[in-house]
Amino acid sequence: MGAIPESNVDVLIVGAGPAGLMMATWMAKCGINARIIDKRGTKIFNGQADGLQCRTLEILDSLGFGHRAWREANHMLEICLWNPDENGVIRRSDRIPDTIPGISRFQQVVLHQGRIERFFLDAIAEASDIRVERGVMPSSLKIDESVVEDDAAYPITVTLRHLTEEEATPKQSSTSANGQGVQDGIFRSNLAKDDTQDLLDTSKINAKANSEEVVHAKYMVGADGAHSWTRNQIGLKLEGDSTDYIWGVLDIVPITDFPDIRMRCAIHSANCGSIMVIPRENKLVRLYIQLTTTEKTGDNSSRADRSKINPQVILESAQKILAPYKITYRKLDWWTAYQIGQRVGTSFSVHERVFLAGDAVHTHSPKAGQGMNVSMQDSFNLGWKIASVVKGHAHRSILKTYQSERRRIAQDLIAFDHKFSRLFSGRPAKDVMDAEGISMEEFKAAFEKGNMFASGTAVNYGASTIVAKEGSSTEQGDGTDVSVANAKHQVISDQSLCSGITVGMRIPSHKVLNQADARPWHLHEVLPSNGRWRVVVFPGNTNDNRQRDKLWKLSEAFSARNSFLSLYNPKGARYDEVFEVLLIHNAPRTSVNVLDFPEVFRPYDEVDGWDYNKIFVDDVSYHEGFGNIYGALNISQSGCIVIIRPDQYVSYVGPMEEPAAVNSFFAGFMKEQNASDEG
Ligand code: FAD
Repeated sequence: MGAIPESNVDVLIVGAGPAGLMMATWMAKCGINARIIDKRGTKIFNGQADGLQCRTLEILDSLGFGHRAWREANHMLEICLWNPDENGVIRRSDRIPDTIPGISRFQQVVLHQGRIERFFLDAIAEASDIRVERGVMPSSLKIDESVVEDDAAYPITVTLRHLTEEEATPKQSSTSANGQGVQDGIFRSNLAKDDTQDLLDTSKINAKANSEEVVHAKYMVGADGAHSWTRNQIGLKLEGDSTDYIWGVLDIVPITDFPDIRMRCAIHSANCGSIMVIPRENKLVRLYIQLTTTEKTGDNSSRADRSKINPQVILESAQKILAPYKITYRKLDWWTAYQIGQRVGTSFSVHERVFLAGDAVHTHSPKAGQGMNVSMQDSFNLGWKIASVVKGHAHRSILKTYQSERRRIAQDLIAFDHKFSRLFSGRPAKDVMDAEGISMEEFKAAFEKGNMFASGTAVNYGASTIVAKEGSSTEQGDGTDVSVANAKHQVISDQSLCSGITVGMRIPSHKVLNQADARPWHLHEVLPSNGRWRVVVFPGNTNDNRQRDKLWKLSEAFSARNSFLSLYNPKGARYDEVFEVLLIHNAPRTSVNVLDFPEVFRPYDEVDGWDYNKIFVDDVSYHEGFGNIYGALNISQSGCIVIIRPDQYVSYVGPMEEPAAVNSFFAGFMKEQNASDEG
């Protein structure tokens, strides 16, 4: 045997589930040297998570493939609540919209995890040479703590083992009652039409089987699921509730006389438990049933015997809950039973070098359809930050905000899930004196309120170096306050200038027109996820002399030698490599021309000429109505500047008269670029 091969990589991602693939997509879009490995020999083809909330769809859209999910998925528009009447017979008691109207241009949909993973794989392949390396898993991890603060160092050393095909193929549990021929978890389904390449790749695994290699990495992301090997290696723990719920999940094409089978339903029976009905793509329906609860004793000895759960058991539970309606099936697509506790990682990284994302750092019930969404959103938060540090644009300090921002979300999720699971799984109260029963009114109120949380649009990140707002930041788990680190640059926003834009939240999207060609765009469409910061100027009506003067003064400041554009854009790079400066005015579109605006908003390139895609107007379109972004976001006619992070979250809102605040904001974490930095 020869020497073990060694190589360097900037970012090593372990796990190619939704969290790992989101990370790899950022790496691909930002041109980072990255590898992504997965111990499985093939991607999943059906089953597992299925719900995509509206914020996730906005994110997938920003990555260029939201339309694929939107088109293929089943759209869920209404939730029907079914409860026992005074005779104990289930009746539809309420209907509520599945997504709160108006919170996003997308509404919640369902599509199985395998398809979503496919969209990621295609996007990664289109943007880069990164490919998921399957049948590969790490066998050792070391971190050289003496160089973790050195930007140029590769402090992480990982040994990777290439598995045999047999090792890389997940074992199926024995097929059992009514589940013959259907494997739980991973099997090739006719829903997946385009996975030939995966199978070819699997066949290549044998050639390298059992070989080892050593990889030196600058950063590592453990997106390796609930049993995370990475988490165990770095000594981090999950903490939380000691109750494990066991869920039975059945994906079937149902044969039933239940009238709302194509609606999302929450059904509480009088005495036989509860069921959630999720209508899916291709006539499938998913039934979620909480089967039992076991109290853990500290080790795993009290875990329920999952081998006793099979499709027949799950179906029988569903039949009892749905009676007097009948339900059966002839086509079973997938099923599973799994046990999950509500837990959050004590910390989300070590030394801001090895990070955990997704199920590796939080687990909870599937009830609210959050698992895949929150997991993807973890690495959506982290990816651009790591990319900007690796590229030398930003200081490592911004990496601390991953934990401060995402751990709080995970904690909120656990709290929400805890409450929701209790309300969902409890027996309905017979009357107001039935203290042990669950009030159906309370359940409905929690469902409606939960819908805002579950949409993902309510996320509001706390104050930090990259979120300029009042308040001490956000607890980091280790007690550090991330805003203190850059206190000397602390810039505070003036929220009164546009009360519809909340610093810390994603900017809402409304239609605007391109000034040059009158085409309508949703604002989010002009903020694709490519790693760039956006500085958006809302100057109001630029036919007003005061506003026009302010705009010209602002543009002079932005074009000055000490402005963020000069200091932090790499020398020789394209003018919008790091920052895109956009303008949205509300003078009548036909009263002004693109060339009336300062050049910083229509940069000139010797080859490409003027850039016509930076100036927009809030005016009526010919065919798609009036976005009225100034009205919808309550933007002051005195104008304002809005800084938007590469992930569409708002960092800062301030007056046009204070361009220096923009420089100060970026000075808090960006690295000055000078000629000697050029490669
Ligand atoms: P995962 O999707 O678990 O991905 C982790 C990846 O890491 C996997 O591809 C795995 O092969 C790989 N990996 C693990 N260890 C290693 C290692 N040592 N080396 C290399 N690779 C490794 N959510 C719902 O909302 N609804 C559901 O019905 C539902 N059903 C589920 C059923 C099952 C059986 C499971 C496991 C999960 C289910 N979930 C469900 C949860 C949902 O799938 C997760 O929340 C979501 O997939 C989390 O994404 P992730 O990328 O963090 O982790």
